[in-house]
Amino acid sequence: MLNNLIGFFQNAQFFTCLKGFFDILIIAMLIYAVLIFIKQTHSFFILWSLLILVGIGLLSKVFNLGLTSSFFESFLPSFLIIFVIIFQKEVRHFVEWFLRSSGKSSVNKIPLSSHVSHIIINAVDDLAKKKIGALIVLAGKFRLEGFLEGGWILGGYVSTPLLLSIFDPSSPGHDGAVVIENNLVKRFGAHLPLAENFQRFGDLGTRHRSALGLAQKTDALVIVVSEERGTISLARNGSIEQLSDIAVLQKIIDDFVKEKFPAQKAPLYNVFTRNIAEKAISLALAVAFWLLFISRSGVINK
Ligand code: ATP
Ligand code: MG
Repeated sequence: MLNNLIGFFQNAQFFTCLKGFFDILIIAMLIYAVLIFIKQTHSFFILWSLLILVGIGLLSKVFNLGLTSSFFESFLPSFLIIFVIIFQKEVRHFVEWFLRSSGKSSVNKIPLSSHVSHIIINAVDDLAKKKIGALIVLAGKFRLEGFLEGGWILGGYVSTPLLLSIFDPSSPGHDGAVVIENNLVKRFGAHLPLAENFQRFGDLGTRHRSALGLAQKTDALVIVVSEERGTISLARNGSIEQLSDIAVLQKIIDDFVKEKFPAQKAPLYNVFTRNIAEKAISLALAVAFWLLFISRSGVINK
């Protein structure tokens, strides 16, 4: 029995399959990480650039286009360097995001409590009625430091009077955004990155544009109160919309908290329930690459 088992593990066929399995799994995980990063940060320009490069590379292999595929193979390292130079900001964010996601960074973040969300909603309602401009950032899982500029660090308990005082137009710290993280006002007067391609939003100004900018680059939820109109808008997941009524804000914040800080589930639960489409695409692409580049070239038998 023991001999049979040892014989099975020593079997070259078994190790070849195991090698192939891990080969595909590692590439599938890398593709998955890139896809999730692009989805969360709306970096679709990078996606198209990668798709075009990978598409040409694959076609040249499938149709045996000697010149194109040898061109690609010899210039691949240079392409990678050019890619990293062009997208250095995004690559840095990707590395940061990857390290953060693979670690347990969300562990030290406390979910927004319903008490604090009530305080925020009361303040937003009051600010909108008085037509006082405001920007309130509710942090998700992303670290926001790299995207914020200026302002003052506070670390104080959230209260309606505090928020109203900060945004009071006569206060020196009213310009910019309040950042709420771990149920505290972490910072105020912070400047957010401006959204690109904002022309389509017509007459919305820089307050709204900066809210969208942060929502394009991070997973934060940004609440905007317009000084001109007294309206409330929300920027998240790379888009901005005006709220029809303050009453919907509570549900939106509750859903945001549930999404960003889900109750702890067994690790396997997430594997089979989250981002199924992205996982399937990553696996299919990794298998396709493996079939084209490894099994066809016979590297597997070496
Ligand atoms: P509103 O509807 O309140 O008028 P708006 O979208 O039209 O807003 P502006 O009128 O340009 O925008 O508002 C200017 C204010 O927006 C500034 O005084 C400042 O408080 C805020 N603001 C502008 N740029 C930024 C930024 N990058 N980050 C944070 N806040 C900003
Ligand atoms: Mg304005």
